[in-house]
Amino acid sequence: AEFCCEMPKIELHAHINGSISETTMKKLLKKKNREGDKLSFQKDQIATLDDCFHMFKLIHQVSDDTEAAYTITYDVIHEFAAENVKYLELRSTPREVKATGMTKLGYVEAVIKAIQDCNDLDIIVKFILAVDRRNGVDVAKETVELAAKYKTLSNGIVIGVDLSGDPTVGDARDYIPVFEQAKQAGLKLALHLAEVPNIEETLAMLKLPPNRIGHGTCLLPDVGGSDELKDYVYTHKIPLELCLTSNVIGQTVPNFDNHHFSNWYKRNHPCVICTDDKGVFNTTLSEEYQIAAKTFNLSVDKIWQLSFGSIDHIFAEEDIKEQLRLKFLQFRPL
Ligand code: 5GP
Repeated sequence: AEFCCEMPKIELHAHINGSISETTMKKLLKKKNREGDKLSFQKDQIATLDDCFHMFKLIHQVSDDTEAAYTITYDVIHEFAAENVKYLELRSTPREVKATGMTKLGYVEAVIKAIQDCNDLDIIVKFILAVDRRNGVDVAKETVELAAKYKTLSNGIVIGVDLSGDPTVGDARDYIPVFEQAKQAGLKLALHLAEVPNIEETLAMLKLPPNRIGHGTCLLPDVGGSDELKDYVYTHKIPLELCLTSNVIGQTVPNFDNHHFSNWYKRNHPCVICTDDKGVFNTTLSEEYQIAAKTFNLSVDKIWQLSFGSIDHIFAEEDIKEQLRLKFLQFRPL
């Protein structure tokens, strides 16, 4: 347990609002004079993916102005830094709230400002703008344009785009031209794929191809995927962002033992352990590594290698990868 916490780590799949801690939630509720709200205590009741999405809606009620967006981002970065995450890619959906005057632009700028204000910490932070598949292609286009613009303006803090939101809503294929456009703008693609079984949609999206896959829960043939999906991901070596607790609580995976991590890991496929929504699922990246170690019987060195290997799949350039590798090598167990 101690090793997983002290080991330098990489977090590549963390939704800002889902990562909000209990402490930050209470702080924001107090500020908004809504201390009586039970918001933060409903977490125990999450049992399905639907419940998770209900929880995000509740969090968004608190995270409704640029000040809150700044605070949440700033606190989340500090929390990851405190458990020795050395490189962090945060993702978030640009949101506007008319009642408070928050615009999407204002939202993105608040997140970037929080990232910049954390530069005294020993952690490199990048920002992925999220496309919510519930919001339609026009909004997605707008998000990609924002990402392209801020990639330059933020001096490379904005680094890519994601596809997320309720996987049972809409058709991801509608967004293919938008993601093509993102690629052309030099943005990386981290797409939630096959969270629920959907062979045709997943196959079409894989052909983009994404730089990384979020979850990929239903790629394998025995859980609603197919050999074609499995082989495509495997031969193209598309890295998987795997979130153990999130999948088990959201019930897209029955239990840790049956998590698809083991199958891909055994094939030597690039796997990155991530938290997804550490606030909503009440976890930390260190705990996720511990769960992997315990469930799949991984030695301390194997755990270190998993963390070290994640560096290959970050969206930042080679110089940052080299810098991280040197740092991580110093921590290699004997
Ligand atoms: P935000 O984008 O507001 O910072 O974080 C919350 C949002 O992230 C949710 O509304 C949802 O769109 C997305 N999200 C968080 N966790 C998951 C997940 O496990 N699956 C999918 N598909 N989307 C998620």
